Amino acid sequence: MKNGTKGSYKQLIVDTGIEMVEKGITVGTWGNISARDPETNLVYISPSGMDYSKIQPQHVVVMDTELNIIDGEAEPSIEKHMHVAVFNARKDVNAVIHTHPIYSTAFGVAEQNLVGVSEDFIQIVGDEIKVASPYELPGTEALGTVAVAGLGTNNAVLLPGHGALVVGGDMKMALKVSMVLEKNAQIYLYAKLLGGSGHIRKFEQSEVDAMQNFAKNHYGQKNKDLYS
Ligand code: 13P
Ligand code: ZN
Repeated sequence: MKNGTKGSYKQLIVDTGIEMVEKGITVGTWGNISARDPETNLVYISPSGMDYSKIQPQHVVVMDTELNIIDGEAEPSIEKHMHVAVFNARKDVNAVIHTHPIYSTAFGVAEQNLVGVSEDFIQIVGDEIKVASPYELPGTEALGTVAVAGLGTNNAVLLPGHGALVVGGDMKMALKVSMVLEKNAQIYLYAKLLGGSGHIRKFEQSEVDAMQNFAKNHYGQKNKDLYS
């Protein structure tokens, strides 16, 4: 393959796009996906404005972390600045997914940070994720800057009036984080509707620490190939 590019990564972008649409966490051609190959540090990103069912491996754009295009027949996602900014800031991240989901976006619209109210969220997303601030237009370098600042060490950040950005050590984890983020936002909103008291049970810091330690070091199979 050209200049150390890998077909498996191109296929991963294609497959993840289809899965993202099937799971209902984005709409139409919006959202975008990227993966970094830790061996070469090359970034594989979805093409801009293409129907996910029409994207073929040759449309996936391969760039270095200075946005120089190495391969790909299509125009890269307009959010290439944001994806590369995340890879440059977070060495533990090899997959980035940006979606336009309903419930998580409601928090971004209300400019309210999203507190973790379910254990899975605490374990793999963070205890409270932020709304990036201030608002920046899509496709701008400035959006990348505020997204990285809002992300911090969490695995998700909300983009006000826009959507969500999630990260993971690999694509499987990033996709899982996307689903758990949306689930937590939905649960939070439904819980607010119950009882009329507005009570939401928040976790104690000791519980958060215990769950994050457990998820990182103990949860699942000792053989990580079996852990999904
Ligand atoms: P692209 O189709 O260029 O990836 O842009 C979609 C989007 O969500 C912009 O924020
Ligand atoms: Zn977007």
